[in-house]
Amino acid sequence: MRKVLLTGDRPSGQLHLGHYVGSIKNRLALQASGDYDCYLLIADVQALTDNFNDPQKVRDNVLEVALDYLACGIDPARTTIAIQSLVPALTELTVYYLNLVTLARLERNPTVKTEIGQKGFGASIPAGFLCYPVSQAADITFCKANVVPVGVDQLPMIEQTREIVRSFNNYYGEVLVEPEALIPEGKLAQRLPGITGINDKMSKSLGNGIYLADDEKVLREKIRQMYTDPEHIHVEDPGHVEGNVVFYYLDVFASDTAQVAELKEHYQRGGLGDVKVKNYLFEVLNAELAPIRERRAELATDPGAVMQVLREGTERANETANATLAEVRQAMRIDYF
Ligand code: ATP
Ligand code: MG
Repeated sequence: MRKVLLTGDRPSGQLHLGHYVGSIKNRLALQASGDYDCYLLIADVQALTDNFNDPQKVRDNVLEVALDYLACGIDPARTTIAIQSLVPALTELTVYYLNLVTLARLERNPTVKTEIGQKGFGASIPAGFLCYPVSQAADITFCKANVVPVGVDQLPMIEQTREIVRSFNNYYGEVLVEPEALIPEGKLAQRLPGITGINDKMSKSLGNGIYLADDEKVLREKIRQMYTDPEHIHVEDPGHVEGNVVFYYLDVFASDTAQVAELKEHYQRGGLGDVKVKNYLFEVLNAELAPIRERRAELATDPGAVMQVLREGTERANETANATLAEVRQAMRIDYF
């Protein structure tokens, strides 16, 4: 049996380096392996749960996220890319799954809790937002995904999905598949920090990101602003590499580990200025991002062609989703005619 991969992104902004190292690289590796049926969902319904007052932003970013995918090397011949809101079976599955979770369970989700704090909802949490992990369970199960390549913040969502699947199969019979999360290793087992500090995770909503679409000038400027060591004032001062975003990025992105070790040693000893280290980081990041940026600019000249890719992917996703939905309805004994 072929395995199935599903993952997605909210069209709440363009994709950034966090998405790239946290999830896209794993997707590309599994796409290349040829062992998986791959699905990518542009999760506009989920993006609307906290952007319901700005639908144009969500709409515009559907194309942006698709451009980012294709620019990174997601291949529509091997990966089905679909728009969540145009797969109505997902909405129906969500409604059935809502019976299988409690309000208390939804309120305990640590990622949702953090996000509620960040978004300043206070006591006015939109019900749709609190329930988005349930809609995510529908996303993951419509294609019976085995593996979900995601960043670590998504672990509670995968766990919630697994609980729903167990509960569904227990009540109605073995229809759904329990997914596994695929989290990156090493330093990337945590979310990539944003440019503002090691404890601020890079996030579209926090505005601290380096975007795949950023041009060279913007990239240089963001690296210039990047948080380093506030105590490293003069070039000759000894500096800290822990908590220093520039060195964190070098650990993640630079392949020449000997060179990075030497820079760290020099920085800690004193005599190495931030500007020099930042210039090196710029070279490293730009080497990785330049080809993506170029492909992206080329693809952006024909948005119609990109939307056609989404149209075809969405059609394919609907076929899969409707087949699963038929099984679900039969298992739930609501297949009347
Ligand atoms: P938003 O702030 O709107 O939630 P986001 O930046 O968190 O946006 P999502 O679309 O929610 O992006 O996340 C898509 C995927 O990218 C998820 O698997 C998530 O874990 C991963 N991801 C997002 N940001 C990072 C990061 N900084 N480091 C690693 N992975 C990340
Ligand atoms: Mg998020």
